Amino acid sequence: MKVLETPISPFQQNAPVVFCEKTNQCIFVDPGDEVEKIIASIEKYDLKPISIVLTHGHIDHAGAALKLSNLKNLEIIGPHKDDKFLLDSLETQGQIFGIQSKCFEPKRWLEEGDLIQLGNDVLEVYHCPGHTPGHIILVSHKSKIIIAGDVIFKGSIGRTDFPRGDHKQLIESIKYKVLSCNDDYCIYSGHGPVTSVGLERKTNPFLVDA
Ligand SMILES: [Zn+2]
Ligand SMILES: [Zn+2]
Repeated sequence: MKVLETPISPFQQNAPVVFCEKTNQCIFVDPGDEVEKIIASIEKYDLKPISIVLTHGHIDHAGAALKLSNLKNLEIIGPHKDDKFLLDSLETQGQIFGIQSKCFEPKRWLEEGDLIQLGNDVLEVYHCPGHTPGHIILVSHKSKIIIAGDVIFKGSIGRTDFPRGDHKQLIESIKYKVLSCNDDYCIYSGHGPVTSVGLERKTNPFLVDA
């Protein structure tokens, strides 16, 4: 399994595309904006999209999911249903941040322990509330990859000053879910560079007590 990142939206969100290099199947994660750019990113690798998966309901992650779903005839999966209030407010979020968006309901919500098959690999769903109540992350234990959305960044963690954010809950999500993976797992965050579990465990200033 490999990950392509294409920074999109005014927030430079990484819009990761996760793909199986054996079968070329891919999933679009968090297509928040600029779908043309995201689609172009997979064309040079000849990837075959099978679905759209959302980590959480913020506009820079979910804003263009419906547009991409309609363009490519793909189902939208996730996030956890505790983020329904955010998907229900996408149009308003978009007006505030200058991203055109429409509200929608995903084909299915995701829960802790759900599995998403992708070619010869599988992504496991971990529910990681704190940044938003319905935030999920995706983990491939075979490829040692974590798609972390806005839970953790290189040297930082997600903001918790948005509606229904919870700092204590976020730290617990990181401690019991992200840091439960071994040090050699790569973390692909929603914003900024790739990092690893080991590096964050040792150097992330927000996790010194975790
Ligand atoms: Zn967010
Ligand atoms: Zn974000």
